Amino acid sequence: MLFTARLWISRSNRIAVHSISTSSKLYRSHTLHFAARRWHHTPVRVRFAPSPTGQLHLGGLRTALFNYLLAKKTGGQFILRIEDTDQTRYVEGAVEKLVSALSWAGITYDEGPGCGGPHAPYYQSERTDLYRKFANDLIENGHAYRCFCTPERLQKVRESRHKTGRTVAYDKHCSYLSDEEIEEQLSQGKTFTVRLKVPSEGSTEFKDLVYGQIHFNNKTIEDTILLKSDGYPTYHLANVVDDHLMGITHVLRGEEWIASTPKHLLLYKALGWSSPHFAHLPLLLNADRTKLSKRTGDVHVEQYIAKGYLPEAVINFAALLSWHMKSEEEIYTIDQLIQAFDLADLNNSGAVVDIAKLDWFNKHHLLRRAETAEGLKSLVDMLVPSVHSQFGSILKDRDQAYRGDMAYLTRVVETIKDRIRNIQDIPRLCSYFFVDPDYTTAAAKTFKKKLKAPAIQLVFSPETQQQLSTVEPFDGATIKQFLHETAEKQNVNPNHVMMAMRYAVTGTQVGAGVADTMAVLGRQTCIDRITTAKAHQV
Ligand code: GLU
Repeated sequence: MLFTARLWISRSNRIAVHSISTSSKLYRSHTLHFAARRWHHTPVRVRFAPSPTGQLHLGGLRTALFNYLLAKKTGGQFILRIEDTDQTRYVEGAVEKLVSALSWAGITYDEGPGCGGPHAPYYQSERTDLYRKFANDLIENGHAYRCFCTPERLQKVRESRHKTGRTVAYDKHCSYLSDEEIEEQLSQGKTFTVRLKVPSEGSTEFKDLVYGQIHFNNKTIEDTILLKSDGYPTYHLANVVDDHLMGITHVLRGEEWIASTPKHLLLYKALGWSSPHFAHLPLLLNADRTKLSKRTGDVHVEQYIAKGYLPEAVINFAALLSWHMKSEEEIYTIDQLIQAFDLADLNNSGAVVDIAKLDWFNKHHLLRRAETAEGLKSLVDMLVPSVHSQFGSILKDRDQAYRGDMAYLTRVVETIKDRIRNIQDIPRLCSYFFVDPDYTTAAAKTFKKKLKAPAIQLVFSPETQQQLSTVEPFDGATIKQFLHETAEKQNVNPNHVMMAMRYAVTGTQVGAGVADTMAVLGRQTCIDRITTAKAHQV
Protein backbone atom coordinates (compact mmCIF):
# COMPACT_ATOMS: atom_id res chain seq x y z
CA MET A 1 0.00 0.00 0.00
CA LEU A 2 1.33 3.41 -0.86
CA PHE A 3 0.93 5.94 1.84
CA THR A 4 1.97 9.55 1.80
CA ALA A 5 2.62 11.54 4.92
CA ARG A 6 3.09 15.24 5.04
CA LEU A 7 5.22 16.88 7.64
CA TRP A 8 5.06 20.60 8.24
CA ILE A 9 8.12 22.15 9.74
CA SER A 10 7.92 25.23 11.95
CA ARG A 11 8.30 28.54 10.18
CA SER A 12 11.83 29.10 11.42
CA ASN A 13 12.77 26.18 9.22
CA ARG A 14 12.22 25.34 5.60
CA ILE A 15 8.70 24.23 4.83
CA ALA A 16 8.85 21.00 2.93
CA VAL A 17 6.61 18.14 2.01
CA HIS A 18 8.05 14.81 2.91
CA SER A 19 6.73 11.87 0.99
CA ILE A 20 7.27 8.39 2.32
CA SER A 21 6.46 5.30 0.38
CA THR A 22 6.03 2.56 2.95
CA SER A 23 5.78 -0.22 0.40
CA SER A 24 8.98 0.52 -1.41
CA LYS A 25 10.73 2.16 1.54
CA LEU A 26 11.78 4.84 -0.88
CA TYR A 27 12.20 8.23 0.65
CA ARG A 28 11.86 11.30 -1.49
CA SER A 29 12.30 14.98 -0.93
CA HIS A 30 14.67 14.77 1.99
CA THR A 31 15.10 18.48 2.38
CA LEU A 32 13.77 18.64 5.89
CA HIS A 33 15.48 20.80 8.44
CA PHE A 34 14.80 19.39 11.83
CA ALA A 35 15.12 21.75 14.72
CA ALA A 36 14.41 21.58 18.41
CA ARG A 37 10.77 22.39 17.85
CA ARG A 38 8.86 21.15 14.87
CA TRP A 39 5.47 20.50 13.46
CA HIS A 40 4.29 17.01 12.74
CA HIS A 41 0.69 17.53 11.89
CA THR A 42 -1.77 15.20 10.48
CA PRO A 43 -4.58 17.12 8.84
CA VAL A 44 -7.05 18.43 11.40
CA ARG A 45 -10.80 18.81 11.09
CA VAL A 46 -11.91 21.96 12.84
CA ARG A 47 -15.07 24.00 12.94
CA PHE A 48 -16.47 27.41 13.70
CA ALA A 49 -19.86 26.90 15.31
CA PRO A 50 -21.59 30.22 15.86
CA SER A 51 -25.13 30.72 17.07
CA PRO A 52 -26.84 33.07 14.65
CA THR A 53 -27.76 35.69 17.20
CA GLY A 54 -26.46 38.82 15.52
CA GLN A 55 -23.41 40.18 13.80
CA LEU A 56 -19.98 38.61 13.72
CA HIS A 57 -18.04 39.82 16.72
CA LEU A 58 -14.29 40.44 16.51
CA GLY A 59 -13.80 37.56 18.96
CA GLY A 60 -15.83 35.29 16.66
CA LEU A 61 -13.74 36.36 13.71
CA ARG A 62 -10.55 35.51 15.62
CA THR A 63 -11.96 32.07 16.52
CA ALA A 64 -12.95 31.41 12.91
CA LEU A 65 -9.56 32.63 11.75
CA PHE A 66 -7.52 30.42 14.07
CA ASN A 67 -9.57 27.40 13.07
CA TYR A 68 -9.09 28.28 9.43
CA LEU A 69 -5.34 28.80 9.85
CA LEU A 70 -4.92 25.47 11.61
CA ALA A 71 -6.88 23.68 8.89
CA LYS A 72 -4.87 25.28 6.11
CA LYS A 73 -1.58 24.78 7.89
CA THR A 74 -2.15 21.06 8.25
CA GLY A 75 -3.94 20.46 4.97
CA GLY A 76 -7.13 19.68 6.89
CA GLN A 77 -10.72 20.91 6.67
CA PHE A 78 -12.52 23.86 8.15
CA ILE A 79 -16.24 23.51 8.73
CA LEU A 80 -18.89 26.12 9.38
CA ARG A 81 -21.72 24.78 11.52
CA ILE A 82 -24.69 26.88 12.53
CA GLU A 83 -25.78 26.22 16.10
CA ASP A 84 -29.34 27.44 15.85
CA THR A 85 -31.24 25.14 18.18
CA ASP A 86 -32.12 27.90 20.62
CA GLN A 87 -35.08 29.27 18.71
CA THR A 88 -35.60 32.06 21.23
CA ARG A 89 -32.23 33.60 20.34
CA TYR A 90 -32.54 33.24 16.58
CA VAL A 91 -32.11 36.48 14.64
CA GLU A 92 -33.45 36.75 11.11
CA GLY A 93 -30.70 37.20 8.50
CA ALA A 94 -27.89 36.52 10.99
CA VAL A 95 -26.50 33.53 9.07
CA GLU A 96 -26.33 35.49 5.82
CA LYS A 97 -24.53 38.32 7.61
CA LEU A 98 -22.12 35.91 9.20
CA VAL A 99 -21.34 34.12 5.95
CA SER A 100 -20.80 37.40 4.14
CA ALA A 101 -18.52 38.75 6.91
CA LEU A 102 -16.41 35.58 6.74
CA SER A 103 -16.26 35.76 2.99
CA TRP A 104 -15.24 39.45 3.14
CA ALA A 105 -12.41 38.43 5.47
CA GLY A 106 -11.30 35.71 3.04
CA ILE A 107 -12.06 32.91 5.50
CA THR A 108 -13.46 30.19 3.30
CA TYR A 109 -14.86 26.94 4.61
CA ASP A 110 -14.70 23.48 3.14
CA GLU A 111 -18.05 22.28 4.46
CA GLY A 112 -21.04 24.24 5.66
CA PRO A 113 -24.09 26.26 4.65
CA GLY A 114 -24.19 26.94 0.96
CA CYS A 115 -21.45 24.51 0.00
CA GLY A 116 -22.71 21.36 1.74
CA GLY A 117 -20.40 18.47 2.54
CA PRO A 118 -20.38 14.85 3.65
CA HIS A 119 -21.95 15.65 7.01
CA ALA A 120 -24.78 17.90 5.84
CA PRO A 121 -26.97 19.43 7.03
CA TYR A 122 -24.78 21.99 8.78
CA TYR A 123 -27.68 23.72 10.49
CA GLN A 124 -28.35 22.09 13.85
CA SER A 125 -32.04 22.93 13.61
CA GLU A 126 -32.17 20.41 10.74
CA ARG A 127 -30.52 17.66 12.78
CA THR A 128 -32.81 17.48 15.79
CA ASP A 129 -33.80 13.82 15.23
CA LEU A 130 -30.17 12.86 15.69
CA TYR A 131 -29.91 14.59 19.04
CA ARG A 132 -33.13 13.00 20.28
CA LYS A 133 -31.81 9.60 19.30
CA PHE A 134 -28.61 10.08 21.29
CA ALA A 135 -30.53 11.49 24.26
CA ASN A 136 -32.60 8.29 24.26
CA ASP A 137 -29.47 6.16 24.03
CA LEU A 138 -28.09 7.98 27.06
CA ILE A 139 -31.30 7.36 29.03
CA GLU A 140 -31.17 3.72 28.08
CA ASN A 141 -27.58 3.19 29.10
CA GLY A 142 -28.16 5.01 32.39
CA HIS A 143 -26.04 8.11 31.72
CA ALA A 144 -29.02 10.44 31.50
CA TYR A 145 -32.49 10.65 33.03
CA ARG A 146 -35.82 12.34 32.51
CA CYS A 147 -36.46 15.30 34.76
CA PHE A 148 -40.13 16.13 35.40
CA CYS A 149 -39.49 19.00 37.82
CA THR A 150 -41.65 22.02 37.19
CA PRO A 151 -40.08 25.44 36.68
CA GLU A 152 -41.57 26.45 40.07
CA ARG A 153 -39.87 23.59 41.87
CA LEU A 154 -36.58 24.28 40.10
CA GLN A 155 -36.76 27.91 41.12
CA LYS A 156 -37.39 27.01 44.78
CA VAL A 157 -34.58 24.45 44.84
CA ARG A 158 -32.20 26.92 43.19
CA GLU A 159 -32.98 29.59 45.76
CA SER A 160 -32.64 27.35 48.78
CA ARG A 161 -29.40 25.80 47.51
CA HIS A 162 -28.05 29.23 46.72
CA LYS A 163 -28.75 30.30 50.32
CA THR A 164 -26.75 27.35 51.63
CA GLY A 165 -23.84 28.19 49.34
CA ARG A 166 -24.19 25.28 46.90
CA THR A 167 -22.69 25.97 43.48
CA VAL A 168 -24.89 23.44 41.70
CA ALA A 169 -28.50 24.57 41.38
CA TYR A 170 -30.27 21.26 40.77
CA ASP A 171 -30.60 18.62 43.48
CA LYS A 172 -30.73 15.53 41.18
CA HIS A 173 -34.27 14.89 42.43
CA CYS A 174 -35.46 13.03 39.31
CA SER A 175 -32.36 10.87 39.10
CA TYR A 176 -33.78 8.99 42.10
CA LEU A 177 -37.20 8.27 40.54
CA SER A 178 -38.10 4.58 40.32
CA ASP A 179 -39.18 3.01 37.01
CA GLU A 180 -42.77 3.01 38.25
CA GLU A 181 -42.65 6.69 39.15
CA ILE A 182 -41.24 7.50 35.73
CA GLU A 183 -43.96 5.43 34.02
CA GLU A 184 -46.60 7.19 36.03
CA GLN A 185 -45.34 10.66 35.07
CA LEU A 186 -45.17 9.62 31.44
CA SER A 187 -48.66 8.14 31.47
CA GLN A 188 -49.95 11.44 32.85
CA GLY A 189 -48.43 13.14 29.83
CA LYS A 190 -46.01 15.20 31.96
CA THR A 191 -43.36 17.04 29.97
CA PHE A 192 -39.76 16.42 30.85
CA THR A 193 -36.23 17.47 30.09
CA VAL A 194 -33.34 15.02 29.78
CA ARG A 195 -30.43 15.56 32.14
CA LEU A 196 -26.92 14.20 32.11
CA LYS A 197 -26.16 12.04 35.14
CA VAL A 198 -22.92 13.55 36.41
CA PRO A 199 -20.97 11.29 38.78
CA SER A 200 -21.07 12.65 42.34
CA GLU A 201 -17.51 11.59 43.00
CA GLY A 202 -14.19 12.13 41.31
CA SER A 203 -13.05 14.79 38.89
CA THR A 204 -12.97 15.58 35.21
CA GLU A 205 -9.73 16.85 33.75
CA PHE A 206 -8.32 17.78 30.42
CA LYS A 207 -5.20 19.30 28.97
CA ASP A 208 -6.10 22.47 27.20
CA LEU A 209 -3.70 23.31 24.38
CA VAL A 210 -3.62 26.96 25.49
CA TYR A 211 -4.37 26.87 29.24
CA GLY A 212 -2.68 23.61 30.14
CA GLN A 213 -4.11 21.10 32.63
CA ILE A 214 -7.62 22.01 33.84
CA HIS A 215 -9.32 20.18 36.64
CA PHE A 216 -13.01 20.18 37.68
CA ASN A 217 -14.40 18.51 40.75
CA ASN A 218 -17.46 16.57 39.57
CA LYS A 219 -19.39 17.84 42.60
CA THR A 220 -19.33 21.30 41.00
CA ILE A 221 -20.85 20.11 37.72
CA GLU A 222 -24.61 20.27 37.38
CA ASP A 223 -26.70 17.47 35.95
CA THR A 224 -26.87 19.49 32.77
CA ILE A 225 -29.99 19.57 30.64
CA LEU A 226 -29.33 17.85 27.31
CA LEU A 227 -32.79 17.92 25.80
CA LYS A 228 -35.32 20.62 26.59
CA SER A 229 -39.00 19.94 27.17
CA ASP A 230 -39.79 21.11 23.61
CA GLY A 231 -37.61 18.28 22.30
CA TYR A 232 -34.83 20.61 21.17
CA PRO A 233 -31.30 19.84 22.33
CA THR A 234 -29.26 22.22 24.41
CA TYR A 235 -25.95 23.50 23.14
CA HIS A 236 -24.06 20.82 25.08
CA LEU A 237 -25.70 17.80 23.51
CA ALA A 238 -25.89 19.14 19.97
CA ASN A 239 -22.32 20.40 20.10
CA VAL A 240 -20.86 17.09 21.27
CA VAL A 241 -22.94 14.95 18.93
CA ASP A 242 -21.97 17.07 15.93
CA ASP A 243 -18.30 17.40 16.82
CA HIS A 244 -18.20 13.61 17.00
CA LEU A 245 -20.24 12.86 13.89
CA MET A 246 -18.40 15.50 11.88
CA GLY A 247 -15.04 14.05 12.86
CA ILE A 248 -13.78 17.19 14.59
CA THR A 249 -10.25 16.63 15.89
CA HIS A 250 -9.57 20.03 17.50
CA VAL A 251 -12.01 22.38 19.16
CA LEU A 252 -10.74 25.97 19.13
CA ARG A 253 -13.24 28.26 20.80
CA GLY A 254 -13.54 31.19 23.20
CA GLU A 255 -12.44 30.95 26.81
CA GLU A 256 -16.04 31.41 27.95
CA TRP A 257 -16.67 27.77 27.00
CA ILE A 258 -14.07 26.32 29.37
CA ALA A 259 -16.72 25.72 32.03
CA SER A 260 -18.75 23.70 29.52
CA THR A 261 -15.87 21.45 28.58
CA PRO A 262 -16.09 19.02 31.55
CA LYS A 263 -19.78 18.48 30.71
CA HIS A 264 -18.78 17.75 27.15
CA LEU A 265 -16.05 15.35 28.28
CA LEU A 266 -18.54 13.49 30.46
CA LEU A 267 -20.88 13.28 27.49
CA TYR A 268 -18.18 11.91 25.20
CA LYS A 269 -17.43 9.29 27.80
CA ALA A 270 -21.09 8.43 28.32
CA LEU A 271 -21.57 8.01 24.58
CA GLY A 272 -18.45 5.88 24.32
CA TRP A 273 -16.66 8.33 22.05
CA SER A 274 -13.15 9.72 22.24
CA SER A 275 -13.01 13.47 22.71
CA PRO A 276 -11.28 16.00 20.47
CA HIS A 277 -8.39 18.22 21.62
CA PHE A 278 -9.43 21.53 23.14
CA ALA A 279 -7.80 24.93 22.76
CA HIS A 280 -9.62 27.81 24.42
CA LEU A 281 -8.83 31.31 23.26
CA PRO A 282 -8.46 34.10 25.81
CA LEU A 283 -11.01 36.86 26.14
CA LEU A 284 -10.74 40.06 24.15
CA LEU A 285 -10.52 43.08 26.43
CA ASN A 286 -11.18 46.80 26.41
CA ALA A 287 -8.24 49.06 27.22
CA ASP A 288 -9.27 49.01 30.91
CA ARG A 289 -9.03 45.18 30.78
CA THR A 290 -12.78 44.67 31.12
CA LYS A 291 -14.44 42.26 28.68
CA LEU A 292 -14.59 43.80 25.21
CA SER A 293 -17.87 45.60 24.79
CA LYS A 294 -19.68 47.83 22.35
CA ARG A 295 -19.50 50.60 24.90
CA THR A 296 -15.90 51.43 24.15
CA GLY A 297 -15.85 51.12 20.39
CA ASP A 298 -16.43 48.93 17.40
CA VAL A 299 -16.62 45.22 18.05
CA HIS A 300 -18.42 43.89 15.00
CA VAL A 301 -16.85 43.01 11.70
CA GLU A 302 -19.63 44.86 9.86
CA GLN A 303 -18.59 48.06 11.60
CA TYR A 304 -15.04 47.63 10.39
CA ILE A 305 -16.29 47.00 6.88
CA ALA A 306 -18.45 50.12 6.98
CA LYS A 307 -15.53 52.20 8.23
CA GLY A 308 -13.39 51.21 5.27
CA TYR A 309 -10.91 48.87 6.95
CA LEU A 310 -9.29 46.41 4.60
CA PRO A 311 -10.02 42.73 5.22
CA GLU A 312 -6.33 41.83 5.24
CA ALA A 313 -5.73 44.47 7.93
CA VAL A 314 -8.57 43.22 10.11
CA ILE A 315 -7.31 39.65 9.69
CA ASN A 316 -3.75 40.63 10.56
CA PHE A 317 -5.05 42.52 13.60
CA ALA A 318 -7.33 39.70 14.78
CA ALA A 319 -4.56 37.12 14.31
CA LEU A 320 -2.16 38.91 16.61
CA LEU A 321 -4.71 39.14 19.40
CA SER A 322 -3.35 36.52 21.81
CA TRP A 323 -0.95 35.03 19.29
CA HIS A 324 2.55 35.67 20.45
CA MET A 325 4.70 35.69 17.34
CA LYS A 326 8.25 34.56 17.77
CA SER A 327 9.40 36.95 15.08
CA GLU A 328 9.46 40.75 15.36
CA GLU A 329 7.54 41.04 12.12
CA GLU A 330 3.95 42.19 12.54
CA ILE A 331 2.65 42.60 9.02
CA TYR A 332 1.36 39.33 7.61
CA THR A 333 -0.76 38.36 4.66
CA ILE A 334 -3.19 35.52 5.21
CA ASP A 335 -0.82 33.11 3.43
CA GLN A 336 2.02 34.16 5.70
CA LEU A 337 -0.25 33.68 8.71
CA ILE A 338 -1.00 30.15 7.55
CA GLN A 339 2.70 29.39 7.28
CA ALA A 340 3.50 30.91 10.65
CA PHE A 341 0.57 29.49 12.60
CA ASP A 342 1.49 27.32 15.55
CA LEU A 343 -0.98 26.45 18.32
CA ALA A 344 1.93 26.48 20.73
CA ASP A 345 2.31 30.25 20.20
CA LEU A 346 -1.15 31.11 21.53
CA ASN A 347 -0.98 32.64 24.96
CA ASN A 348 -3.62 32.61 27.64
CA SER A 349 -3.68 36.20 28.83
CA GLY A 350 -6.56 38.36 27.70
CA ALA A 351 -5.85 40.39 24.58
CA VAL A 352 -6.50 44.13 24.67
CA VAL A 353 -8.18 45.41 21.53
CA ASP A 354 -6.49 48.63 20.49
CA ILE A 355 -8.12 50.26 17.49
CA ALA A 356 -5.06 52.48 16.98
CA LYS A 357 -3.22 49.27 16.21
CA LEU A 358 -5.87 48.29 13.67
CA ASP A 359 -5.36 51.69 12.02
CA TRP A 360 -1.65 50.97 11.92
CA PHE A 361 -2.20 47.61 10.24
CA ASN A 362 -4.62 49.21 7.84
CA LYS A 363 -2.09 51.83 6.82
CA HIS A 364 0.50 49.17 6.03
CA HIS A 365 -1.87 46.96 4.10
CA LEU A 366 -3.25 49.93 2.21
CA LEU A 367 0.24 50.80 0.97
CA ARG A 368 0.87 47.19 0.12
CA ARG A 369 -2.33 47.05 -1.92
CA ALA A 370 -1.49 50.26 -3.73
CA GLU A 371 1.68 48.64 -5.09
CA THR A 372 -0.19 46.79 -7.82
CA ALA A 373 -2.49 48.25 -10.45
CA GLU A 374 -5.22 45.83 -9.44
CA GLY A 375 -4.83 46.69 -5.74
CA LEU A 376 -4.88 50.41 -6.49
CA LYS A 377 -8.06 49.97 -8.48
CA SER A 378 -9.68 48.13 -5.58
CA LEU A 379 -8.88 51.07 -3.30
CA VAL A 380 -10.37 53.52 -5.78
CA ASP A 381 -13.46 51.30 -6.01
CA MET A 382 -13.84 51.62 -2.26
CA LEU A 383 -13.62 55.38 -2.52
CA VAL A 384 -16.23 55.87 -5.26
CA PRO A 385 -19.42 55.27 -3.20
CA SER A 386 -18.37 57.50 -0.31
CA VAL A 387 -17.20 60.33 -2.57
CA HIS A 388 -20.43 60.15 -4.50
CA SER A 389 -22.64 59.99 -1.45
CA GLN A 390 -20.78 62.80 0.30
CA PHE A 391 -20.14 65.17 -2.62
CA GLY A 392 -22.41 63.83 -5.36
CA SER A 393 -24.47 66.88 -6.21
CA ILE A 394 -21.56 69.26 -5.71
CA LEU A 395 -19.43 67.22 -8.09
CA LYS A 396 -22.10 67.43 -10.75
CA ASP A 397 -22.36 71.20 -10.42
CA ARG A 398 -18.71 71.83 -11.16
CA ASP A 399 -17.84 72.80 -14.67
CA GLN A 400 -14.19 71.93 -14.23
CA ALA A 401 -12.62 68.49 -14.41
CA TYR A 402 -15.07 65.98 -13.03
CA ARG A 403 -13.86 64.98 -9.59
CA GLY A 404 -15.67 61.71 -9.22
CA ASP A 405 -14.20 59.68 -12.05
CA MET A 406 -11.81 56.78 -11.75
CA ALA A 407 -8.86 58.56 -13.35
CA TYR A 408 -9.10 61.50 -10.96
CA LEU A 409 -9.70 59.33 -7.90
CA THR A 410 -6.73 57.16 -8.85
CA ARG A 411 -4.49 60.23 -8.88
CA VAL A 412 -5.89 61.31 -5.52
CA VAL A 413 -5.17 57.91 -3.95
CA GLU A 414 -1.67 57.78 -5.42
CA THR A 415 -0.88 61.24 -4.08
CA ILE A 416 -2.23 60.86 -0.57
CA LYS A 417 -1.72 57.17 0.15
CA ASP A 418 1.35 57.65 2.36
CA ARG A 419 -0.51 60.08 4.60
CA ILE A 420 -3.69 58.19 5.38
CA ARG A 421 -4.54 55.19 7.50
CA ASN A 422 -7.83 54.39 5.88
CA ILE A 423 -9.22 55.03 2.42
CA GLN A 424 -12.20 56.74 4.04
CA ASP A 425 -9.82 59.36 5.47
CA ILE A 426 -9.80 60.86 1.97
CA PRO A 427 -13.38 62.16 1.82
CA ARG A 428 -13.32 62.74 5.58
CA LEU A 429 -10.08 64.69 5.96
CA CYS A 430 -9.21 65.78 2.43
CA SER A 431 -12.50 67.09 1.07
CA TYR A 432 -10.50 69.75 -0.82
CA PHE A 433 -9.86 67.14 -3.50
CA PHE A 434 -13.56 67.33 -4.31
CA VAL A 435 -14.91 70.65 -3.15
CA ASP A 436 -13.50 74.12 -2.55
CA PRO A 437 -12.12 74.75 0.93
CA ASP A 438 -14.14 76.61 3.50
CA TYR A 439 -11.81 79.31 4.80
CA THR A 440 -14.25 80.35 7.51
CA THR A 441 -13.93 77.25 9.70
CA ALA A 442 -12.14 77.46 13.03
CA ALA A 443 -9.47 75.06 11.77
CA ALA A 444 -8.84 77.14 8.66
CA LYS A 445 -8.58 80.30 10.74
CA THR A 446 -6.13 78.66 13.14
CA PHE A 447 -4.09 77.50 10.19
CA LYS A 448 -4.04 81.00 8.74
CA LYS A 449 -2.71 82.44 12.00
CA LYS A 450 0.37 80.23 11.69
CA LEU A 451 1.31 81.62 8.30
CA LYS A 452 4.11 84.15 7.86
CA ALA A 453 3.13 87.50 6.34
CA PRO A 454 5.86 87.65 3.64
CA ALA A 455 4.91 84.12 2.49
CA ILE A 456 1.21 85.01 2.26
CA GLN A 457 1.96 88.18 0.38
CA LEU A 458 4.06 86.25 -2.08
CA VAL A 459 1.40 83.60 -2.67
CA PHE A 460 -1.31 86.23 -3.09
CA SER A 461 0.74 88.55 -5.29
CA PRO A 462 -0.63 89.03 -8.83
CA GLU A 463 2.83 88.15 -10.21
CA THR A 464 2.80 84.73 -8.59
CA GLN A 465 -0.68 84.04 -9.89
CA GLN A 466 0.35 85.23 -13.30
CA GLN A 467 3.46 83.02 -13.32
CA LEU A 468 1.54 80.07 -12.02
CA SER A 469 -0.56 80.19 -15.15
CA THR A 470 2.56 79.62 -17.23
CA VAL A 471 4.19 76.79 -15.24
CA GLU A 472 4.65 73.99 -17.73
CA PRO A 473 4.12 71.08 -17.32
CA PHE A 474 1.78 71.55 -14.38
CA ASP A 475 3.18 68.62 -12.45
CA GLY A 476 4.43 68.19 -8.89
CA ALA A 477 8.15 68.52 -9.63
CA THR A 478 7.80 71.61 -11.82
CA ILE A 479 5.40 73.35 -9.43
CA LYS A 480 7.71 72.65 -6.53
CA GLN A 481 10.68 74.04 -8.39
CA PHE A 482 8.70 77.13 -9.36
CA LEU A 483 7.60 77.82 -5.78
CA HIS A 484 11.11 77.35 -4.41
CA GLU A 485 12.65 79.64 -7.01
CA THR A 486 10.00 82.29 -6.45
CA ALA A 487 10.58 82.17 -2.69
CA GLU A 488 14.34 82.36 -3.02
CA LYS A 489 14.16 85.25 -5.46
CA GLN A 490 12.09 87.22 -2.97
CA ASN A 491 14.19 86.12 -0.01
CA VAL A 492 11.29 84.35 1.65
CA ASN A 493 11.66 80.98 3.39
CA PRO A 494 10.43 78.39 0.81
CA ASN A 495 8.85 76.27 3.57
CA HIS A 496 6.75 79.26 4.61
CA VAL A 497 5.66 79.73 1.02
CA MET A 498 4.67 76.08 0.73
CA MET A 499 2.61 76.43 3.92
CA ALA A 500 0.86 79.55 2.68
CA MET A 501 0.17 77.87 -0.65
CA ARG A 502 -1.24 74.84 1.16
CA TYR A 503 -3.59 77.13 3.03
CA ALA A 504 -4.69 78.83 -0.18
CA VAL A 505 -5.37 75.69 -2.21
CA THR A 506 -6.59 73.26 0.50
CA GLY A 507 -7.54 75.32 3.54
CA THR A 508 -6.23 72.54 5.79
CA GLN A 509 -2.98 71.24 7.16
CA VAL A 510 -3.77 67.62 6.33
CA GLY A 511 -2.34 66.49 3.07
CA ALA A 512 0.40 65.25 0.85
CA GLY A 513 3.13 67.46 -0.65
CA VAL A 514 1.50 70.73 -1.65
CA ALA A 515 2.99 70.80 -5.16
CA ASP A 516 1.73 67.26 -5.86
CA THR A 517 -1.67 68.21 -4.49
CA MET A 518 -1.79 71.24 -6.75
CA ALA A 519 -0.93 69.09 -9.75
CA VAL A 520 -3.87 66.80 -8.98
CA LEU A 521 -6.25 69.70 -8.40
CA GLY A 522 -5.28 71.32 -11.67
CA ARG A 523 -4.04 74.77 -12.58
CA GLN A 524 -7.34 76.62 -12.85
CA THR A 525 -8.66 75.28 -9.58
CA CYS A 526 -5.48 76.39 -7.82
CA ILE A 527 -5.62 79.87 -9.28
CA ASP A 528 -9.33 80.19 -8.42
CA ARG A 529 -8.74 79.04 -4.87
CA ILE A 530 -5.84 81.44 -4.35
CA THR A 531 -8.17 84.25 -5.43
CA THR A 532 -10.88 83.10 -3.05
CA ALA A 533 -8.43 82.68 -0.17
CA LYS A 534 -7.10 86.14 -0.84
CA ALA A 535 -10.63 87.52 -0.61
CA HIS A 536 -10.92 85.98 2.86
CA GLN A 537 -7.63 87.55 3.82
CA VAL A 538 -9.05 91.07 3.96
N1 GLU B 1 -22.51 27.90 19.55
C1 GLU B 1 -21.40 28.26 20.37
C2 GLU B 1 -21.16 29.75 20.16
O1 GLU B 1 -22.06 30.41 19.85
C3 GLU B 1 -20.20 27.41 19.99
C4 GLU B 1 -19.19 27.22 21.05
C5 GLU B 1 -18.22 26.14 20.60
O2 GLU B 1 -17.43 26.44 19.69
O3 GLU B 1 -18.31 25.03 21.10
O4 GLU B 1 -20.09 30.28 20.27
